[in-house]
Amino acid sequence: MTVCVNCGVEVLDEKGEEKREVYDEKLYKSTGIIKLIECTQCKDYVDKYIEYEGCLVLLDLALQHPPAYRHSLINQEHRTLIYKMAFLTLIVDSYCRWAMDSADRQFFEREFEFYAKFGLAVSSLLVNISICLLIVSFYQLFKMSSVAVNYPRLFDGLLLSFCTRFLQLLALLWGTESTQFLWWFVDFIYLLTSFNVLRILSGFGEIQSAAVAVVSHLALHLVDFNGHLLL
Ligand SMILES: [Zn+2]
Repeated sequence: MTVCVNCGVEVLDEKGEEKREVYDEKLYKSTGIIKLIECTQCKDYVDKYIEYEGCLVLLDLALQHPPAYRHSLINQEHRTLIYKMAFLTLIVDSYCRWAMDSADRQFFEREFEFYAKFGLAVSSLLVNISICLLIVSFYQLFKMSSVAVNYPRLFDGLLLSFCTRFLQLLALLWGTESTQFLWWFVDFIYLLTSFNVLRILSGFGEIQSAAVAVVSHLALHLVDFNGHLLL
């Protein structure tokens, strides 16, 4: 499926069938020129991001622009990259938890502790995603939302939002007594990204998306808090 990144409407050809490319294919085949097609609803270009460099798309993602999320999660296929980034973020997340622990022992004595922190990071991520998916499927089950949800895509989107936790590494490296707010800032970015992903992929309105994002984040912190007491 291809959608207009501005308004989210599905892009169809003259016969009303699904259109895969966001440019005039006939013109491209005959002349090699890429002419972006316009959306029938908002009259803007369907997907301007195909002409953007990857770093500019990443910048718009960081600035929380919904069109960049539609481009990356719906019009493009980045599943493998998202999974790799999520795994890397899990390692960073575990390392931050491990490094913040003030146990005064040698590195090799604390190896098991790192694996335990990794398990805790995975658990809190799974709880966060499961709660989002459960609430969305509950709404779908009782027909409270008319939008058909693509669950694998929503899962990928929620994993992408988790990747913002990679920034914790900066908070750890440059963290001092006066920069403790960086941890809260990273968490706020994570919450904001989850909200954007839910708003675009779940069919929820802004208030519902914000409520689901907040509830799933509270659950994540509850798991973190209990895990911290146990480990
Ligand atoms: Zn449009």
